[in-house]
Amino acid sequence: MKKIAVIGAGPGGLASAMLLAAEGHDVHVYEKHDRVGGRNGAWKLGDYSFDIGPTFLSMPHLIQELFRKAGRDMNDYMDLKQLTPMYELLWEGKQIPMYHQQDKMLASISRHFPGNERGYLRFMRDNKKKMDRLTPILQTRHHRLRDYLAPRVLKALPQLSLGKSVYDVLSDYFDDEKLKIAFSFQAKYLGMSPWECPGAFSILSYMEHEYGVYHPIGGVNRLSGAMAEVFEELGGTIHLGQAVASVETKEKQTEAIVLESGERVVADDFVINADFAQAMTKLIDDGSLKKYKKKKVEKKKFSCSTFMIYAGVDKLYDMPHHSILFSSDYKKNVEELTGTLELSDEPSIYIHNPSVTDDTLAPEGHSAVYILAPVPNNQSGIDWEAKKEEVEAVVLDRLEKESGFSDIRDHITVKKIITPKDWEQTFEIYEGATFSLGHQLSQMMYFRPHNQFDDLANLWLVGGGTHPGSGLPTILESAKITSDWIGET
Ligand SMILES: Cc1cc2nc3c(=O)[nH]c(=O)nc-3n(C[C@H](O)[C@H](O)[C@H](O)COP(=O)(O)OP(=O)(O)OC[C@H]3O[C@@H](n4cnc5c(N)ncnc54)[C@H](O)[C@@H]3O)c2cc1C
Repeated sequence: MKKIAVIGAGPGGLASAMLLAAEGHDVHVYEKHDRVGGRNGAWKLGDYSFDIGPTFLSMPHLIQELFRKAGRDMNDYMDLKQLTPMYELLWEGKQIPMYHQQDKMLASISRHFPGNERGYLRFMRDNKKKMDRLTPILQTRHHRLRDYLAPRVLKALPQLSLGKSVYDVLSDYFDDEKLKIAFSFQAKYLGMSPWECPGAFSILSYMEHEYGVYHPIGGVNRLSGAMAEVFEELGGTIHLGQAVASVETKEKQTEAIVLESGERVVADDFVINADFAQAMTKLIDDGSLKKYKKKKVEKKKFSCSTFMIYAGVDKLYDMPHHSILFSSDYKKNVEELTGTLELSDEPSIYIHNPSVTDDTLAPEGHSAVYILAPVPNNQSGIDWEAKKEEVEAVVLDRLEKESGFSDIRDHITVKKIITPKDWEQTFEIYEGATFSLGHQLSQMMYFRPHNQFDDLANLWLVGGGTHPGSGLPTILESAKITSDWIGET
């Protein structure tokens, strides 16, 4: 059995650590912060508790598979509530509920987008096939170009919708602009524009509609919390507040990690869960890797970022658990985030109002409201110290005028704001690109950083920056791929 050091206690690091510990390895996780979960962690502001990042959980069967692999039952660690409706879309005064249940979704389409019912049924049928074909690709390693000739890949090729964006794919099913966007805005989960995101990712909205959206009591951060508990039960050790300063390599081997305290940790294998580009540019000597030298990493494409307001509110709003308030010109808004890299006058806004489902997050009659506006990553050069208050005002103005949170400013008792600068400096995310490397086809599968480094046999990657990609289900898959592979070496 090996000694394995994992850098970072995000969901990717914890999932791989849990699986490796279940195989009997001696696993140590080194985490910069004094809490687990990374972007999937929680923080408390006074009596209010918030998810830091992920709030949408879908495909819980993948989590259960992971827990089963570690000899556990997910339900012993997490209490999942299914959300009905999954979320509500707010658009120019209209409120459009989106449902997992087919009869309810058809009724919502008939009411708001009559004539598109058959398109929805066809979308679900076609995307089931797409998902069935793409799943084996998402669940296997892609470190050799010749893998593209493997039967599983050849079978999936027609399902990649090559040459089409997610928006183009949706245009084959719906004739209404808003409905096309209602099934393609999920490209934002990858920090991308639906007009640019590869058509294969129409499976993102399919996943929600097919499997539903869930809230674990306590927040989606419970996923990381639960994996940390299982890991420790299996004998693993989490070293909190222990940032890794560098990774020491010699010839084709990784020899040790050096902590900021100066301590040197020697192990057989090393797993990087820290953000890929940040780790390549900060932790590893530029001379030891050919493929990921700073200059090459800088040329890669990165996701957009997010401006966050976490607000403890002395009122419980009768609003859905998740709502999305769209910009009236959504395409322009998306182009500003991902193309021209400027701030929108009318940003789209996502509002998380989990206290309507979960009374553990705030005192009785209060709520823990999380407000997210996608914004450009730090390649924009925006001075966030100067712009922070202005952006906050634009976001809250929209919320008060155009959603049920009409008097939220009067009820905020405590708040915290996170800008792209904070994501970069505190969370160690390259350029503050909160959804990691972009998911252009030129950065997918073989062309995404491999789960095992090519030039260093005992250095591995897990998390949003490696194959298969960012987003909790794929991050968990990355942990399975990497830990199985380590087990084979
Ligand atoms: C605002 C936001 C909302 C999101 N919403 C969703 C959602 O609803 N659903 C979804 O599926 N996904 C969502 N995501 C995307 C993704 O699922 C999460 O970002 C996820 O937490 C990424 O996991 P990870 O393991 O790759 O990295 P991280 O969560 O970033 O974990 C990396 C860990 O490494 C640590 N670290 C970094 N450098 C060092 C170092 N030098 N030494 C020691 N430790 C270090 C960090 O502190 C961190 O704990 C969201 C992301 C954000 C930011």
